[in-house]
Amino acid sequence: MTAAGSAGHAAPALDLAGLTHRYGALATVDHLDLQIAAGSRHGLIGANGAGKTTLLNLIAGTLHPASGQIRYAGQVITGWPVHRRARAGIGRTHQTPAVLPSLSTVDNMVAALWPHDRGHQRRPEWPGRRYRRLRATAMAALDTAGLAPHAHTPAGALSHGQRRLLELAAVLATRPALLLLDEPAAGLTGADRDLLTDQLATLPEAVTVLLVEHHLDLVAAVCGTVTALHQGRHLHTATPDTLWQHPQVAAAYPRPDRSVPGC
Ligand code: ATP
Repeated sequence: MTAAGSAGHAAPALDLAGLTHRYGALATVDHLDLQIAAGSRHGLIGANGAGKTTLLNLIAGTLHPASGQIRYAGQVITGWPVHRRARAGIGRTHQTPAVLPSLSTVDNMVAALWPHDRGHQRRPEWPGRRYRRLRATAMAALDTAGLAPHAHTPAGALSHGQRRLLELAAVLATRPALLLLDEPAAGLTGADRDLLTDQLATLPEAVTVLLVEHHLDLVAAVCGTVTALHQGRHLHTATPDTLWQHPQVAAAYPRPDRSVPGC
């Protein structure tokens, strides 16, 4: 069964066909067909162990499928390494924020921007000059993310929520075309969660988002379309309002009465 993304969008940004991944005998992603429409905000939900993170890893290229195909922006990328996918515009965040703890917050941003620096490709610069230019870009992005007061703090000394926001700001600064978010609200409280919601709400329309999240209020606030996974298989794709009308979704992943307040 093919699950299309939300109606009204152009050709899919992402087209997964028969995608299968195994750890030994366990099929973590099982013959999955899924299309994510270009420019859509697509949620991915399912119980613990449903295969959500594995699927993001397959798309980002940190894992490779046993069989099946991944097509991104019209190209088959199934065998591409991570860095080639990243250069092609696939950005991601992780369940545990991936930051460089001994570098300052601003230098984490510079490190993220460095390999995506088209300015240098067009016109090579001395490293010091290039660093100062990227640092200015990084400072502007930190300001938008509400992290400017922490620019000179080592990332390892930031709170969990601040590290999450830093990782998101760093990937957004690279201007991804496809953004894979793995439980971005996990561990966030109060103001940090509001900053996250604001950041996601103000993403450029052209960015395609695949959001893995257990906080269903956030999924409903951000996503027009949601897919439920169960034991690596596609269960159902629908709007956030109608997804739980599907009996298999309701059985496999009962909707909590209340998710995170304020998302
Ligand atoms: P969660 O919501 O808890 O993050 P998930 O839906 O993201 O869960 P995955 O992390 O993709 O689920 O895991 C899918 C299955 O693969 C689970 O049964 C998990 O135990 C198993 N798994 C994950 N990583 C490994 C590994 N390195 N070796 C063996 N099995 C693994």
